[in-house]
Amino acid sequence: MSKTRTAIVTGSTSGIGLGIARALAADGCNVVLNSFTEGEEERALAEGIAREFGVETAYIRADMARGGECRRLVEETVERFGALDILVNNAGIQHVAPIEAFPVEKWDAILAINLTSAFHTIAAAVPHMKRQGKGRIVNISSAHGLRASPFKSAYIAAKHGIVGLTKTVALELADHHVTCNAICPGYVLTPLVEAQIPEQMEAHGMDRDTVVREVMLARQPIRDFATVEQIGAAAVFLCSEHAALITGTTLSVDGGWTAR
Ligand code: NAD
Repeated sequence: MSKTRTAIVTGSTSGIGLGIARALAADGCNVVLNSFTEGEEERALAEGIAREFGVETAYIRADMARGGECRRLVEETVERFGALDILVNNAGIQHVAPIEAFPVEKWDAILAINLTSAFHTIAAAVPHMKRQGKGRIVNISSAHGLRASPFKSAYIAAKHGIVGLTKTVALELADHHVTCNAICPGYVLTPLVEAQIPEQMEAHGMDRDTVVREVMLARQPIRDFATVEQIGAAAVFLCSEHAALITGTTLSVDGGWTAR
């Protein structure tokens, strides 16, 4: 049987998810890319990664806002590849508004996609990982999983929640050589962050440059955005043999933000 590991990265058609998918493929993993859309573009992205790194890839459409689809993503991966070694829960959305004006549907969507989806994918993946006697689960939390900022109530609740979920799953699976950890990035310049800039400008009444430096990167002692390659490398490390004893913890890639 092939020793090539199979990985799922949720929400991996752009930004951090795509960076992690590429890094795992470069490390020799077969990779399943995912998003909630269906089209030529997504399939071409998966095929391009397969060609570039000489691994097998697939694109599986599944909406991480829906529990059934989260679980189907896992089952379909195991059917196609015969195994599941690595699960990266990355899909996430953001909305910025004061709590009293926070749209209920945005709260529900953020909790569903950023937190509850991980409950469903992990629940579906665990029986396979237990059977295999090994596995790696990496949840993409945030510096906002460890610290709060105003106007992001749903996101911060979800990202703190996923840190708690990470610790619990680590304890439950310790006997099975399945580790579960969370990566907590500071600001990474991706489409999600680009989309926040106008909302932050409005919430704080500032221009773009001022809001980036004085609000978004103000709490990062190293005032640079992190790169998706840096987050990908962190995920590859957590999925390696060298990280076998690292479980139930958070790995901050935040320029010193949470050192304060
Ligand atoms: P992004 O918007 O570039 O990518 C998000 C991905 O999730 C996309 O591929 C999108 O298609 C997918 N997605 C969105 N809704 C989905 C759904 N319902 N079902 C399936 N897929 C869905 O965002 P990003 O900045 O790369 O963020 C990725 C993760 O990293 C998120 O969980 C985010 O909270 C976290 N994060 C980002 C930053 C940052 O600064 N960018 C910092 C800390 C944590």
